[in-house]
Amino acid sequence: MDASWEDFGWERLGPGTGRRRLPVWDATALLVAGADGVLLCDTGASLREGVELRTQAEALLGRRVTHIALSHPHFDHVLGTAAFAGARVYGAAGMTELLRRGAGELYADAVSQGLPEPDAAESVDTLVAPGEEVDGERVLDLGGRQVVLVNVGAAHSGHDLAVLVPGSAPLVFCGDLVEESGEPQAGPDALPARWPAALDRLLELGGEDALYVPGHGAVVDAAFVRAQRDALAGRFGGS
Ligand SMILES: [Zn+2]
Repeated sequence: MDASWEDFGWERLGPGTGRRRLPVWDATALLVAGADGVLLCDTGASLREGVELRTQAEALLGRRVTHIALSHPHFDHVLGTAAFAGARVYGAAGMTELLRRGAGELYADAVSQGLPEPDAAESVDTLVAPGEEVDGERVLDLGGRQVVLVNVGAAHSGHDLAVLVPGSAPLVFCGDLVEESGEPQAGPDALPARWPAALDRLLELGGEDALYVPGHGAVVDAAFVRAQRDALAGRFGGS
């Protein structure tokens, strides 16, 4: 089944694991399949995009997405979540309340960044916030394969969650803590002084040999993450 990842525009990253760089804003969605469960990390920039991801995931894996991890509460990473009825949705502690309270801001941000108004309205109206919040770490058992959700604290956003997929070649889903296709973006909800420490945590999780999957851009290595850490420390302070 893995042979067809490329046919759907996905990049295969290992057995039962692949990611897709989504159009327009270039956010990444990652799939990790175990024997019993399928985890999707981030759900796209609209309900429509979520539906497309769900259709592709089911075609690739022959079953439904059972778990969703949201890396942080920015529109291009969360607005497709409602397409996955029945999946357990995880986010960093505090994100559920933020999304429920902040739907108007999410709508305004999405529209200002170019999402057509009807798409933004539909996506925000149906928005699904995490039913499970992660404080510290949470291990998910997907059947013969475990993944670890890690609350790395506020840095790029107020609620950053990383995902470690252990293995001989570990993989770390970084969300926008790491960006390859452009400068890391620090918006009004960022906590730049904590950002270098969050990248240290990612490096500790994955080690030297991991694949680091950024929120935007090509998959990078530990050296890239370390260089970005140093650049952020220089830009914002922190050590
Ligand atoms: Zn972001």
